[in-house]
Amino acid sequence: MVEKVKKTDAEWQALLTPEQYQVARQAGTERAFSGKYHDNKAKGIYRCVCCGSELFSSETKFDSGTGWPSFWEPSVAENVATKRDFSHFMIRTEAVCANCDAHLGHVFNDGPKPTGQRYCMNSASLTFEPAAE
Ligand code: FE
Repeated sequence: MVEKVKKTDAEWQALLTPEQYQVARQAGTERAFSGKYHDNKAKGIYRCVCCGSELFSSETKFDSGTGWPSFWEPSVAENVATKRDFSHFMIRTEAVCANCDAHLGHVFNDGPKPTGQRYCMNSASLTFEPAAE
C-alpha cells in the first residue's frame, strides 16, 4: 500500500486556494456551473488538486448537465475511494482521494453505460493535465 499523504490543515491551506481548501479538505461543494472543468472537453487527465494522484481521464468524462465535471469511471480505480456520507439529511456515497483523503464529490447510480455510475466531482478538487498533442 502506498503511504498516505498527510498534512496539517495549516499546510493544506498554504498549498491551496481558499475554494480548493474548502471543497477538498472540508468537504465543500462548489456552486454548479461555477467550476473550471464542468465544460472542459479537452483530452487529458484529471489529478487530485492536493496530492497529484491521477483520478480521472477525459475518456470517461460525459456531459451530465449538472454543472459539475462528471465521469462514469475513475481512470485509476485504486486512487478513488468511496465512503458513506450521511450529511445534509441524505445518504450518499462520497468519493475521496485514496492517497490523501481529499473530498472529490459524490457517486450516483444514474450514470451512462457501461458502468451506470456518475462520479459527480468538484472542479476545485481537480487539476487538469492536457494530453500532449
Ligand atoms: Fe489526493
